[in-house]
Amino acid sequence: MKLVKNENNKPLKETISDKEAEEAFIKILKWIGEDPGREGLIETPKRVTKAFKEYFKGYKEDPISILSKTFGDVNGYDDMVIQKNISVQSHCEHHMAPIIGVAHVAYIPNERVVGLSKLARVVEVYSKRLQTQERLTMQIGNSLMEALKPKGVAVSIDSTHQCMTMRGIKKEQATTVTNYYLGQFKEDLSYQNRYLRFISK
Ligand SMILES: [Zn+2]
Repeated sequence: MKLVKNENNKPLKETISDKEAEEAFIKILKWIGEDPGREGLIETPKRVTKAFKEYFKGYKEDPISILSKTFGDVNGYDDMVIQKNISVQSHCEHHMAPIIGVAHVAYIPNERVVGLSKLARVVEVYSKRLQTQERLTMQIGNSLMEALKPKGVAVSIDSTHQCMTMRGIKKEQATTVTNYYLGQFKEDLSYQNRYLRFISK
């Protein structure tokens, strides 16, 4: 096995056409024992290709540029900004099975703030790639740190992995929680505790 490039799960320039992707899905249909030529399936490879484009559209977007527009006019607001319950719909990189849950994102502004919708957008972009929950959590935090240079960042994700609920060990109720703290959230436990209190409400 050759372990190559893209360990950071960043966009790569590969040129696989939609047609080639559709052909691959036709092959998979045959492999599971289906007839790709029957009426109900004839358009399926096309539809699945389209759906995959949506599931994985995050490779085409750059979170840092999404966060590049900041605002300085916040009248000295200097406490944490928390966005809770941002829905997460991602896919695990080990089984390509859905990861469904929520993310909570917080930062302590360093004079500049970012539009609130942009926090959810960053979660969205990284979610729409093949992921591990641990990496997803850290990528969101690191991009906020890099783009906003805030005094601190906290990111939590609470999700269900369908590779665990639908197959394998089949633990339907199991959820996975990951946390990532930077700056003041890491150094000052009182900040971390306040953040945790807010997100658990
Ligand atoms: Zn998995």
